[in-house]
Amino acid sequence: MADVTPVFERQSAPRGQFWKMTRLCCIWAGSIDAAFFVLFLLLGSPILAWINIISIAMYATAIWALKARRNRLAVALIWIEVTVHAALGSLLIGWDSGFHYFLLMFIPALFAGMRTTRHAWYGVLGLWAFYVALDLLMRFVEPLQPISPAALLWVHLFNLSVVFLMFSYLSVFYVGTVTRADRHLRRMAATDALTGLYNRRYVINLLERSQAEGAEFGTTALLLLDVDHFKAINDQHGHEAGDLVLQAVSRAIKACVREQDTVARWGGEEFLAVLPGSDLESARTIAERVRQAVEQAGTGLACPLSVSIGISTHQAGEPLNNSIARADEALYRGKSAGRNRVELATN
Ligand code: GH3
Ligand code: MG
Ligand code: MG
Repeated sequence: MADVTPVFERQSAPRGQFWKMTRLCCIWAGSIDAAFFVLFLLLGSPILAWINIISIAMYATAIWALKARRNRLAVALIWIEVTVHAALGSLLIGWDSGFHYFLLMFIPALFAGMRTTRHAWYGVLGLWAFYVALDLLMRFVEPLQPISPAALLWVHLFNLSVVFLMFSYLSVFYVGTVTRADRHLRRMAATDALTGLYNRRYVINLLERSQAEGAEFGTTALLLLDVDHFKAINDQHGHEAGDLVLQAVSRAIKACVREQDTVARWGGEEFLAVLPGSDLESARTIAERVRQAVEQAGTGLACPLSVSIGISTHQAGEPLNNSIARADEALYRGKSAGRNRVELATN
C-alpha cells in the first residue's frame, strides 16, 4: 500500500541543509589533510603524507558526488576516509596521534542524516565497536612508523584542536538550522497564506494572552469586517479574482490601522482588527476610514467593493467570545441595514 504519511513527517532533518553542511565539512577536511600532507613531509613520514593525498582525492570525489546528487557514494567515501584514516594514523604513529577523535564527528551526523533514529543508533553502535576495538588493539601493538614525541604531541594537539573547531562549527550549524526552522514554523502557524495577515489562531492567542497578563490599554476595540456580496464576486469573476480582492481588502485595512493594531483574517471573507487603547468612538473613526479605503481599493473589477464593519469593545476579564459575539451582532445589523456600513455594539 502506498505510504500516505505527509512528506514533511517522513523526513528526519532538513535534508538540503544537511547535505550543504556535509559538503562544507568535506572542504574543511580536505584542506586539513592538505596541511597534514605538508606537515608529515616536514616530519619525515612520507607514507603518512601520501595517505593524506589519497584522503584529499576522496574528499574531492565526495564533493563532486554531492554536487551530482550521488549522496550515498559521498557518504560511503567520507566513512571510508575517516575510519581508515583513524585506523592507519593510530597504527602508524600511535593512539596518541588523536586521529580517532575524528570518528566522534559521526555521532551527530548519524542522527541528523539517517532516515530513522533506530538506524542512527545502529550506526552509533557500529562506530562505538570500531572505536573500542581500535583503542584496545593499540594497547597491544607498537606504532609501525613512530615519530618523535615532540612531533607526536604537535599532531595530537592539532587533531584535538581541529575536532574542537569542527564540533563548534557543527553546533553553530545545527542550532542555526533549528532556530531558523522554528521561526519559519511559528510564522507559518500564525499567518494566513493568502493575505499574509495573522490568522484566527494567532489573534485569539494574542487576546487571551494579553488578558492573562492583565495588559491594560484601557479598552480594546474589536472590528469585525465582512466583505459584502463576496460570493457574487466569486461567481461573476472566478475564485482567483476573489482571492485578489481578499488581498486588496487586507492591504486597505492594514493601511488604515495603527502600528500597535493587529489585523487578522478571521475566516473566509471576514477580518478582525484588534485596536488596543481604543474606545467605541475612536474605533468608529478608524472603521469609517477602512470602509472608505475598501470602497476605493483598485481591484480592476467592474463591480463595487465594500465591507460592513461591526465594532465592540473588549472589557478586561470578559470572555473573548462575548465581545466577538457583540461585534458580530453589530456587523449583522450593518448587513441588514443595507451593507457598506459601520455599526457599534449596543451593549
Ligand atoms: P454578505 O454580504 O452577506 O456577507 O454575502 P457574501 O456573499 O459575502 O457572503 P457568503 O457567506 O454568502 O459568501 C462568502 C463567500 O466567500 C463564499 C465562499 O466561497 C467565499 N470564500 C471564502 N473563502 C474564500 C477564499 O479564500 N477565496 C475566495 N475566492 N473565496 C472565498
Ligand atoms: Mg461572511
Ligand atoms: Mg460577506
